[in-house]
Amino acid sequence: MLLIFPPTAKACEPPAGIARLAGALQTHNIPCRLWDANLEGQLWLLEQQPEANDTWTTRAWRSRHKHLQELREPTTCANSSRYTTAVNDLNRLLLMAAKPLQAEVGLADYRQSDLSPVRSKDLLQAAARPELNPFFPFFQQRLPGLLDGMTTVGISLNFLSQALCSFSLIGLIRQQYPNVKIALGGGLVTTWLSRPDWQNPFGDLIDHLIAGPGERPLLELLGQNTSQSGNMPGYQQLPLQQYLSPGLILPYSAASGCWWNRCSFCPERAEGNRYLPLPTSQVLAELQQLVQQYRPTLLHLLDNALSPALLQGMIEQPPGVPWYGFVRFEQQLEDPAFCHALRQSGCVMLKLGIESGDQAVLDRLHKGIRLEQAGLILENLRQAGIAVYGYLLFGTPAEDQEAARRTLAFVQQHHAAISFLNLAVFNMPLFGDEVPEYETELFYEGDLSLYTGFKHPKGWGRGEVRRFLCQEFSRPPEIAAIIRRDPPQFTSNHAALFC
Ligand code: SF4
Repeated sequence: MLLIFPPTAKACEPPAGIARLAGALQTHNIPCRLWDANLEGQLWLLEQQPEANDTWTTRAWRSRHKHLQELREPTTCANSSRYTTAVNDLNRLLLMAAKPLQAEVGLADYRQSDLSPVRSKDLLQAAARPELNPFFPFFQQRLPGLLDGMTTVGISLNFLSQALCSFSLIGLIRQQYPNVKIALGGGLVTTWLSRPDWQNPFGDLIDHLIAGPGERPLLELLGQNTSQSGNMPGYQQLPLQQYLSPGLILPYSAASGCWWNRCSFCPERAEGNRYLPLPTSQVLAELQQLVQQYRPTLLHLLDNALSPALLQGMIEQPPGVPWYGFVRFEQQLEDPAFCHALRQSGCVMLKLGIESGDQAVLDRLHKGIRLEQAGLILENLRQAGIAVYGYLLFGTPAEDQEAARRTLAFVQQHHAAISFLNLAVFNMPLFGDEVPEYETELFYEGDLSLYTGFKHPKGWGRGEVRRFLCQEFSRPPEIAAIIRRDPPQFTSNHAALFC
């Protein structure tokens, strides 16, 4: 079986999904091949000389090998302007190389002016005319060797930015290898399949659509008994030295879904995804093994929220290399000694959904946190030397401008403890609990849209929120400094390397 991670997503770490699937297949002695078409595709596109000859593009083209090398050197993190130039230049090259095909390719995004990834007819169109995709010559070049001896292909489609390229690839496989079976899974497919109004528009193109963790369905598809457990991710077939990061970042998922599962705005919850954790002892043992085998610079724990048991486990059995991940404002973190112990375990950065500095808004969102507790935890983490990547959410139905100003005040008060910030404008999940309460309208015309627009009950719409963020929230120097610190394009994926 050939497992593919398609373009375009951030190529800063090996794809965890196909590595986990490879582990499961290998445990069952099923031969498989892994292809990170995202990383390879971007590296291939960076070697296609763009037609544009403006000063920026010419400089970027001349320096591309130097930039790639710099982006892979740990020392580059000590020189943020070298890092920023390398990232911006490489991003420019991707953009200009794909421009003749009306595509906008970047290190973290993919768009096509005439096709939308949230419209099934556009995805089918991408499959019908694969030659219009900028990665087409690369797909054509690589597929014969990769598909040699293979009867089934599994494609891991996680982000909207991968959708059009995935379908172009599927179209090409269908045209040139009609006997190969195609299975499509991953986060985005899980979202599609969770829609109450889902009707498969891809039945003629794709043999199997898989929702949720793919190991079991894939093994069943291949006629295997799935009772055998143990499926450590298998990264060995991936080009680990080539990822665009200053040192190897190894991703690892200890659970799918979320153990909290209560936040009203959360797509995970709206999709009804179940919380499926691996046993903590298994996670800790696998992390140790992975660290020994691959010697990463950093571990990226992918869980939506690391469980309290796992945090305790990391302290008792540290993985031996620096790590970071998402946590909630856990009670454990109110104890300064616990935060120090966490730092000792290698924790260099925690991602935290602060969302709002207004208690009433937090309560309406069912975040389950108190602001005093959040402030105390931020201070504990600062004292322990753990960086914080904070996530804020503006424009939720419960918020108004005054509440947003309280968020601004909260961030100002705790700015010394917040290293990085992500500012998001609220999107209402299309099938979330709150939808019936508001006058809704579709944002984009698309049968696969994930979100719906809505009429804000307090007139605090997206336009007002954006103006507030730009003209008021980002102005105070201490907040502007936090925003400026965010690594371009790679944002939280590289932030821990700068801590
Ligand atoms: S903690 Fe995160 S993943 Fe969990 S329910 Fe809240 S928003 Fe969703």
